[in-house]
This record gives sequence, structure tokens and C-alpha cells, in this order.
Amino acid sequence: MRRQAKLWILFVTLWTCALAETRAGLVSDIVNQVSQSSYQFYLDNLLYAHNGDNRGLGGAQHDLAQANIYNQFVSYGLQTSLDPFPYNGNTYYNVVGVLPGTSRASQFYIVGAHYDSVGNPGADDNASGVAGVLEAARVLSQYEFEASLVFIAFDREEQGLFGSQDYASEHWSDDIRAMISLDMIGYNHLGGNTASIYGRAAALPLKQALADAIAAYGEGLTASIFGQWDVSDHAPFGWQGFHACLLIEGGWAHNTNYHKLTDSVDTPGFIDYQFATRITRSTVGYLATVAVLVPEPVAAALFGSGLVWLILLRRTRRR
Ligand SMILES: [Zn+2]
Repeated sequence: MRRQAKLWILFVTLWTCALAETRAGLVSDIVNQVSQSSYQFYLDNLLYAHNGDNRGLGGAQHDLAQANIYNQFVSYGLQTSLDPFPYNGNTYYNVVGVLPGTSRASQFYIVGAHYDSVGNPGADDNASGVAGVLEAARVLSQYEFEASLVFIAFDREEQGLFGSQDYASEHWSDDIRAMISLDMIGYNHLGGNTASIYGRAAALPLKQALADAIAAYGEGLTASIFGQWDVSDHAPFGWQGFHACLLIEGGWAHNTNYHKLTDSVDTPGFIDYQFATRITRSTVGYLATVAVLVPEPVAAALFGSGLVWLILLRRTRRR
């Protein structure tokens, strides 16, 4: 084979590899790694959301769920910690996992969900949100982003947002660009596939960007934007002046299992895993967009070497 032909084959091979790697870096390709079976595994097997389970104050499964969340964050390679805070004379813990940004590490995008319940299995409220945070963390932790991503499972939400209040006030001077609370994302009333976004007027850019991500990645989900409603862990972030919002199932007002023992993954037809996965996909799409993907070194190197080959070949031809 002529030397020129060999070079061309090498060049085409490298170029094809580089293109494939770059395509994998598109936001839609990241979103497409969000998996319903993975989401369902977390909700059904790691978060104690079955009949008889209790993640409430003093509940037998509360600390077990906390340990599972912690271990999952560690397994994703996140900088994982238990963030202590006081409540009613005792110490409780938020579980925090950080994926540090490469070039804008001091800018933070947070997605959180409370893992405590009202003394019930709390499948929809709020193991459904925690499973979304876990799945988002699993997928996003496989990439590098310019800004930092923070995944938090909050505790003592049900007593009055105590875990998120502590975190937001401790981090008041941080550059938190956005905070999303996933709280009740598993009940799809009448199969309507609607999601609702609540937050202060100041958070309108965040609310709009999240609605855009739902339109782009929600596989048919539709979002409605509403005003301030300080009922979940986004609220303390808003009080500190950060852009924060609640992402919740659109049909929450029709959820007859709310705060009951029947808020369980064992209640037939109650949890819609596909719907919850769509909300998770949308959240991942938003985060991957705003945190800005860093091209993988392999892809960058292949692109670079491809360009060098191209230049060398052109120079060889001209001679
Ligand atoms: Zn809740």
C-alpha cells in the first residue's frame, strides 16, 4: 500500500473516532442515559418505600435509606459528606455529593430532594424525588462540567425544611446559580404528563429554563410555571436570595395517598415510573446545559491529531 493511502486510512479512522466521542458529549446523549430501570431500582430497592417502611422521625428505615444514598454518591465518585444540623436537641444529616467543576468550580448548580417522610413509606413524598437525584447523579457524574454540580438528600423537611434551611444559611455566601427541589415526582394524575414549577418571581429565568428543558427532554411532558410556594426545600434557598424552584407532579392536588400509609410503591397503579423518569431526564438536561460539558480529553486529543494529519497531508500533496 502506498504511504499516502495508509495515512488517509489512519486519518479517517481517527476522525471518525473523534466525531463519535464528540457526539457522546451532546446534552441529548447525556439525557438519554437516564434509565427508567435504574430509576425504578433506586426507588424500589434502596429507599425503603414499601408497605410498613418508615423514614420519619425515629423511623426504623430512616438511617438505612440515608446510608444507601451516601453509598450511592460514593460509588459515583462524588465528594460525599454527611452535613450535620441540629433539630429539637438532636443531630440530623443532609447527604451531600459534589461533582467539582473544572474551570468554574465556585459556581454551583444544586438539585435536591428530602429523604425523610411523615412516618410512612413516603414513596411519592419523597423517595420519588430522591431516586431522581440519584439517577441524575449517576448519569452526570460520568462527565466533567465547567461548573460544579451538587446533589443533596435533605433531612427533616417534613418538620419545617430544617435540613435545607441549615444548608442554605451555611452556604449563603456561595455562588449558587440555581437550586431545584424534586419533591413528589411519581404520581401522574390521569396520565396527564404534567409537571409544575413553583418559585419566586426573581427565579423566573430558572423556571423558564427548566420548562424549556422539560419541552426538549421530557418526552411529551408539559410544564406549567407558578409563583412562590414555600413548601419544599427550594424555599430556604430563595430566602437567601438564590434562584430556586420546586419541580413537582402537576396532579399533586389529586394525590389521595399524600401523607398516608398508602404512599407506597406497593399501592397498585400509584407510582408512574416512566413519568418520574421523564422529570428526571428534564432535570438532567437542564443541569448538563447550564453547567457546560467539558470535552473529554480523548475526544479533544483525537480531534487535534486528526487536524495535524490533515495539515501534514495537504503539505505533502503540495510538494
Ligand atoms: Zn415532600
